[in-house]
Amino acid sequence: ARPHVVVVGGGAGGATAARYIAKDSKGAIDVTLIEPTRTYYTCFFSNLYIGDFRTLDSLAHSYGTLASEYGINVVHDWATGVDRDAKEVALAGGGRVGYDALVLSPGIDFVEGSVPGWDITAQNKMPHSYKAGSQTELLKAQVLSMREGGVYCMVAPPNPYRCPPGPYERVSMVAHQFKQNNPTATILILDPKPKFSKQALFEEGWQKHYPGMIQRLGPDFGGGNVEVRPDSMEVVIDGSPEKVDVCNVIPAQKAGRICHEAGLTEGNWAPVVPATMQSRMDENVYILGDATSQGDMPKSGYSANSQAKAAAMAIRGALTDARTFPPRYSNTCWSLIAPEDGVKVGASYEPTEEKIAKTDGFISATGEDAAQRKATYEESLGWYSGITSDMFG
Ligand code: FAD
Repeated sequence: ARPHVVVVGGGAGGATAARYIAKDSKGAIDVTLIEPTRTYYTCFFSNLYIGDFRTLDSLAHSYGTLASEYGINVVHDWATGVDRDAKEVALAGGGRVGYDALVLSPGIDFVEGSVPGWDITAQNKMPHSYKAGSQTELLKAQVLSMREGGVYCMVAPPNPYRCPPGPYERVSMVAHQFKQNNPTATILILDPKPKFSKQALFEEGWQKHYPGMIQRLGPDFGGGNVEVRPDSMEVVIDGSPEKVDVCNVIPAQKAGRICHEAGLTEGNWAPVVPATMQSRMDENVYILGDATSQGDMPKSGYSANSQAKAAAMAIRGALTDARTFPPRYSNTCWSLIAPEDGVKVGASYEPTEEKIAKTDGFISATGEDAAQRKATYEESLGWYSGITSDMFG
């Protein structure tokens, strides 16, 4: 029989890995992709939907081409457990699927209790919108219907978390909405981190486009000591309750549940071998994307896609006689601050024994001219169409 690879999670890491293994092995490896949703909404560019720069439909992708053109067996179900001795994945629907190599790319789950007063039952009153789709629609609806002059509060997450600039790009897009429709509204960021990604660029842009609208309280001002009360729409900062109108709670994060169920985590994340993305605990399991602890790469779609190609090569090398090369990893995170005002940060990485190590990096400069910022934004549009065709064919 041909070797069989099972991929759990059809997002940036999993869809890319499934497609590359199927495409490059030319039928020598059978691939099954397990993903519960029939439509994947990218988190990337979901902030741009909140700012009215994208439609929700433009973020939606389906798995039909992976099945019809690449011969991938797409199973819409949840993986509920992994029997690593028998090399089988259990499905919520009751089935079991055997594998020769297993890829896990389940993304994130939230750390219970990380924001006192908030749990998943509060996500309608206080959305996280950190998994895209209905949560993103809900947050946008709340922004658009917020009372005149109201307060939008964001409880920002501690490191490490999915998409380091994501919360701050979101604030920019919400501010852009308010500037058009509700100019006396204000935004309050409660942040447990002393500093954040692209901080100088965001702060310069906020000052320029949204003066006086955005206030951020870091840990020295109570931003790290926050409790929420969803029923009364209050946030309690260092013991003082304050009424807010919209509250976007982005809790602390950990590897998707299946990694913990499979016994492949150390603390919140799943450690991997830098050159192959194999689990440090099981050489037959490869783990990708946000769920991993790997070293210097940020948790991004770009990173997950880059790691997936390295893992696909390693898997073909292990299961067939395909040649392998030392992988090179890369990442760029673009953010939109205001119309045509795009910024970016990125780096290249190489695997060492202990970690994926940053070799060199770049970042947009403060004070860049409008033409440069527009070019950066346009580059991000090209990246979006490139990565989504790389994932879904
Ligand atoms: P995901 O893409 O989340 O995929 C995980 C998949 O696994 C999901 O489809 C889920 O349904 C499935 N799954 C989970 N558990 C199971 C299970 N038990 N069984 C079966 N399936 C399961 N990144 C960028 O590079 N650029 C950006 O501009 C950018 N912007 C962002 C903005 C926001 C607001 C957010 C929240 C994120 C952003 N990101 C961006 C980050 C990016 O979305 C993630 O880093 C990326 O999606 C991680 O890929 P992944 O494969 O690890 O997880």
